[in-house]
Amino acid sequence: MPISWWTMAMATKRAELHLYLFGASSGESIVIQLPDRSWAVIDCFATSSKDVRTNPAHDLLKSRGVRELAFLCLTHPHADHFTGMSRLVRDFQIRKFWGFGGLQPPDFDLLKSFFQADAATSSNRLDADAREGAAEISELFDGILSQVPSTQAVSAKTLIYPESVDKRSSVRIWGLAPSGRHTDEYKRCLVKSFARKRFKSALPGADHNLISSALLIQFGRTRIILGGDVENEGWQHVLDDKPVDDLSAHAVKVSHHGSKNGFCLGLWDRFSAGSKPVAILTPFASKALPQREALDHIQARASSIHSAAVLRHDESSFPTAPDPSFTRIRAMLAAKARARLSGSGRKGGACHLIFDNRGHFTLEHEGEAGRIA
Ligand SMILES: [Zn+2]
Repeated sequence: MPISWWTMAMATKRAELHLYLFGASSGESIVIQLPDRSWAVIDCFATSSKDVRTNPAHDLLKSRGVRELAFLCLTHPHADHFTGMSRLVRDFQIRKFWGFGGLQPPDFDLLKSFFQADAATSSNRLDADAREGAAEISELFDGILSQVPSTQAVSAKTLIYPESVDKRSSVRIWGLAPSGRHTDEYKRCLVKSFARKRFKSALPGADHNLISSALLIQFGRTRIILGGDVENEGWQHVLDDKPVDDLSAHAVKVSHHGSKNGFCLGLWDRFSAGSKPVAILTPFASKALPQREALDHIQARASSIHSAAVLRHDESSFPTAPDPSFTRIRAMLAAKARARLSGSGRKGGACHLIFDNRGHFTLEHEGEAGRIA
């Protein structure tokens, strides 16, 4: 039977890229379904590493009958991005693991020791969290070493997908960060922290965000930037080193939960150089993120801002609303947040974006997700 226009239209219609951004005010998971129907995951959080029912990425993949991931990426070793990831390694076949800057298998033992030592030296209040984090990262790295055939570190200019340059692939995913300089500095400080016995506080900026990966997804003419937890210094390197010439995007996953350190001046002007992108974020309640200052900056350079979960802190952190209709939305979200805080559920919500290859997309909110500006 000859291929009809209808068949071709259906084939074209099927060329979609799905992006699910999950959050529950305590972490971030991004699940991607590529146009060839394969799946990939970038970061993972569960409100409990022991209870798989609190892991929305795992839940989605299981509900879709997924058995294999084209890749699994950990942007940086913070618990709000890796809790529950070991369960993905256990329950799905992972073709390739993409770690953050400098993370190659020989470094896994160093990082495991770092987390164990950090847990042993942290203050009482954080002991339980730190111990759970150290146990989870050990299980994750052990699982990757025993079950994942291929691992590599993301850095600026790395081609993450497809596995090798394939002209037929309609999707390319590139690393934008971290820079080689930041990776080297981080590794030097990681090794030194054992001599000083100060661990996290011995890292540059006392943080793993220095080596957070950021990614650019190109699907035909569609461009999506996933900012990880890259902070201002990291973004300044992206602007200076130019891993790609064009940083314009149709959608941007806001970096570092919408903190005022999650961008540098000029960055969002580059993101919005073509047209204003949609901005999506995951809040982080215990650090009162997002921050109003960042949301106001982004709002001026984005078509709209969406959150995967209810903002669980002071309503004053919402952006200044030029449109009176947002007063109503703000009040509604604040009421939802209060109800949520008094309830026991911690499922959060999801922003689900469906892209074609020409920069068009639809956005759906699930659970607690909503537009905040
Ligand atoms: Zn984070």
